[in-house]
Parts: sequence; C-alpha cells; structure tokens
Amino acid sequence: MNDLKKYLAENDIRFTENKKASEFTTFRIGGECFTVYPKNVKELTDATRFCDTNGIKCVIIGCGSNVLFADKGYDGAVIMTQGINAVETDGDFITAGCGATLISVCKAALDRCLSGVEFAYGIPGSVGGAVFMNAGAYGGEMKDVVEYVKAYSRKDGKIIKLNNAECGFDYRKSVFSDGEYVILSTKLKLKPGDKKEIKAVMDDLLGRRKDKQPLNYPSAGSVFKRYPGRYTGQMIEAAGLKGYTVGGAQVSEKHAGFIINKGGASADDVLTLIDHIKTVIKEREGVIIEPEIRVID
Ligand SMILES: Cc1cc2nc3c(=O)[nH]c(=O)nc-3n(C[C@H](O)[C@H](O)[C@H](O)COP(=O)(O)OP(=O)(O)OC[C@H]3O[C@@H](n4cnc5c(N)ncnc54)[C@H](O)[C@@H]3O)c2cc1C
Repeated sequence: MNDLKKYLAENDIRFTENKKASEFTTFRIGGECFTVYPKNVKELTDATRFCDTNGIKCVIIGCGSNVLFADKGYDGAVIMTQGINAVETDGDFITAGCGATLISVCKAALDRCLSGVEFAYGIPGSVGGAVFMNAGAYGGEMKDVVEYVKAYSRKDGKIIKLNNAECGFDYRKSVFSDGEYVILSTKLKLKPGDKKEIKAVMDDLLGRRKDKQPLNYPSAGSVFKRYPGRYTGQMIEAAGLKGYTVGGAQVSEKHAGFIINKGGASADDVLTLIDHIKTVIKEREGVIIEPEIRVID
C-alpha cells in the first residue's frame, strides 16, 4: 500500500486511509478501507492499472447501493467513481460518466424532454453500477437504453467501446459483472417525449417506491434476484420471515425482499440472515435463491 500511496500522492490523485465502508454504502455497514477518488477517467484508469500491475487488490465503487463490505474492511484499494459524473445531452442521446447518479441522468432527460429512462428514477445508484448490474425496475432496464459503453479492460489495459449486444445484458448481469472491465462512460439512446408525461411517470414510480420500500432504513435494496417466474420477496413473506432478525439485520416488515439495517448491523449479521432465508426457502419451495447484492471482502 505504501507504493500506491506514493504513486497517488505524486500524481495528485486524492485518497484517504481508514475510511469505513459504513460511511459510503447505503447499507451503512463495513469496516475500514483505503479509498481513492479519481477526478477524471485518466486518474481512474491510472489508479486501476497501478493496482493491477503491482498486485494490489482493487474494487470500483459507484454509489455503494448494491454492495455489502465485510466488517474487517477491504485489504486493497476502493476506487470511487463519484468524481466522474458529467452528464451531456446531444439530440436524443445522453452520455454520462460512470459516477453520474441515475437521478441526475433522469433529471437531464426530463429537462430535454427525453423518454426511456424514467424506470431508473429512484434507483440510488451510479450509471457505472447500473450498467454493471443491468439495473432495472417497473418493466425497464439499462439494456433498453444503452447505445454503447466505454470501458477499460483490466486484462490488456485497452479502452474499448462495447455496443448494446456486446454488453451481454441479462437479468441483473452483464459482460461487466465478472469485474474484468472498469466502466468509464455510457451513451444512452432515448426518445423525444412529452415533458409532463415523463414527469408524471417519474413521480408515480418514486411514489410507488416510497409506498412499498423501507426507505427510512439503510439497505442495499432487494437482496435476492428473482427466481425465474417468481418474486423472491413473496416467497420470503409466505415463509413467515418478515421481521426475522439477526443482530441488527432484519427482513423488512414493509418489503420482505429487503434486509434493513435496524442499527449497528454487521456484515456477519446480514450474511447469517441471508443463509437462513436461503435455507428456509430451499426447504419450503425446493429452490435455491441467489443474492443480488455483491459481497466485497
Ligand atoms: C433503496 C434501494 C432501492 C433499489 N432499487 C433498485 C431497483 O429498483 N432496481 C435495481 O436494479 N437495483 C436497485 N437497487 C440496487 C442498486 O441501487 C443498483 O443495483 C445500482 O445500479 C447500483 O449502482 P451503484 O453505483 O450503487 O453500484 P455499487 O453498489 O457501487 O457497485 C455495484 C457493483 O458494480 C460494480 N461497479 C460499480 N461501478 C463500476 C464501474 N464504473 N466499473 C466497473 N464496475 C463497477 C461494483 O464493483 C460492484 O460490484 C436499489 C438499492 C437500494 C438501496
């Protein structure tokens, strides 16, 4: 880590030591990390390349809304994309830096009367994290709007442009999901629409989230992927697990698909709860449900 610190300092790339993951994740869980804050794509790729060529573990983090960091923290570099957040519109297209929030993209689309990305309003993630996960909601997903993605390959150090088909989008996964690429920016193709109608859809979806989701507690959203043809939250609710608690982690009473941090939850509490839910669902339904959240350790 000393070499990395020296490199970052010499290249004027900001970093902090001992930042707790509980401070930068929506779950508010996780121990100390070494965090790096690139201001632009060059700093992002340079920092990643330095780690990769010097045998230092590193992970790229956007808004930290789909991750669970270990209680012991992370023994590598956590590279945060929040500084790479430009959002530019050009005709029916929006190009966004990987760290731009989905909310800022939705607002830019609304300003320009562009429709297509309303589904993402209220997902508390970055464009990079959303492309990585093929985030989706209410019948829409990133796959529907991505024109192309610019990404840095950690294998050969090249920056490449992947069109929609090359992104390999599938339910909550993409070609990026194995961590080989750093997503740098994304161009979205939208359609001209009516501003009032776009706003009405955004407001409606946000309202539905507020009604259905436990937004007053820290969480990482739905913990499990849907089982083909089934809503996992409904299976968990039917198993009587709403309110089931391990330490500070609880299956939300409001939405059984969410695990909430009731206060002081540890990553171990969440992982124990996930295992319990999986076991109960396997016994009751005979199916194995898979977590959607990414465990970083
Ligand atoms: C209240 C709540 C509601 C939610 N609702 C939804 C929903 O409706 N639909 C949905 O799909 N998700 C939902 N989520 C989950 C989450 O917001 C999305 O998956 C979001 O897209 C994650 O983006 P992020 O920037 O927070 O990613 P992070 O949590 O920071 O990272 C997620 C993964 O992406 C990787 N990653 C992030 N940025 C990059 C990059 N630039 N290059 C390479 N890899 C990268 C990380 O390494 C990690 O593996 C919800 C979460 C919460 C807390």
